[in-house]
Amino acid sequence: MPTERNSVHYDLVLNGKRYPPKYVVSLATLFATGDEYPAADFNAVEAKNFFQARDYEVIDRRGEAEHEIVSEDDESDFPEGSAKFKQHRYLERDSKITKKAKAKRLADTGKLECDVCTLDFEQQYGERGHGFIEGHHTKPVSMLDGKEKTKVSDIALVCSNCHRMLHRGTKLLSVAQLKKIFYECTIT
Ligand SMILES: [Zn+2]
Ligand SMILES: [Zn+2]
Repeated sequence: MPTERNSVHYDLVLNGKRYPPKYVVSLATLFATGDEYPAADFNAVEAKNFFQARDYEVIDRRGEAEHEIVSEDDESDFPEGSAKFKQHRYLERDSKITKKAKAKRLADTGKLECDVCTLDFEQQYGERGHGFIEGHHTKPVSMLDGKEKTKVSDIALVCSNCHRMLHRGTKLLSVAQLKKIFYECTIT
């Protein structure tokens, strides 16, 4: 199919299959007159209107895409509910324990790499990334009674992408589970 007949936004549905409206117009013109209708003379919106006026189904992919986009509100994703989410984030943002975890990691390895994908912010972003990594509390908050103190060993150090991926969806993943997914996807 010629690329100038592609449709960015619209699909015409014919017998359950989708076609760019402009392309169908140009083909129809080709059959009728032997000349393909010049693309410039019939834009995508005109083609869409042409078919809609004749009761054909035309899908606006922009509307469709909006339905496919999941809300990225952290709290709505959090499986344990919003109170538990706040508690979890509070623990992670407790700078003392995250700072300790980072200091220990620096002392042990000399760098701050993501526990999942090994991204090193300083290596990637230079001076701007110096000393940056996020702390992730690995124990499900439901297991904490509120009195238990967070230990440095409870904190995983992860980049912002991997941190979001750990929390995303209906099930909090473990670092090992996300690591498995990350490397399976990297190999292919
Ligand atoms: Zn990462
Ligand atoms: Zn986290």
